[in-house]
Amino acid sequence: MFQTQDPNCLFCKIVKGEIPANIIYQDEKCVAFYDIDPQAPVHFLVIPKVHIGSCGELNESNSVIAGHCLEVISKMTKELGVTDFRVVSNCGEQAGQSVPHLHFHVLAGRDMTWPPG
Ligand code: AMP
Ligand code: ZN
Repeated sequence: MFQTQDPNCLFCKIVKGEIPANIIYQDEKCVAFYDIDPQAPVHFLVIPKVHIGSCGELNESNSVIAGHCLEVISKMTKELGVTDFRVVSNCGEQAGQSVPHLHFHVLAGRDMTWPPG
């Protein structure tokens, strides 16, 4: 896949290896790494290698990557022995997005409340 990164983007820098991360999985399309500020006993992120700002930028030509990220989440949770987990993708500042590069949070290992805050 053709890779485009944003030189100023934190997660693109992790993709390029310019910033270290605790990477648990990667392939040609995505990277999974533990969140630096975990909100649950298990908290990792899955991101596409290509820069997409958020779920709000998915379209017919790039949405296959989102499906791939979800497939990797299914694989990684099995490998980590996690059966119950929450997948979150904050989209926009009001929704709590702080890094404008599409990412799926995977949280597990504690009781979750609903609705989220
Ligand atoms: P969000 O606030 O939904 O955009 O999620 C961004 C997440 O990235 C937060 O949970 C941060 O703790 C996490 N984060 C920020 N910088 C790093 C980093 N260098 N390595 C791992 N996780 C990070
Ligand atoms: Zn990026």
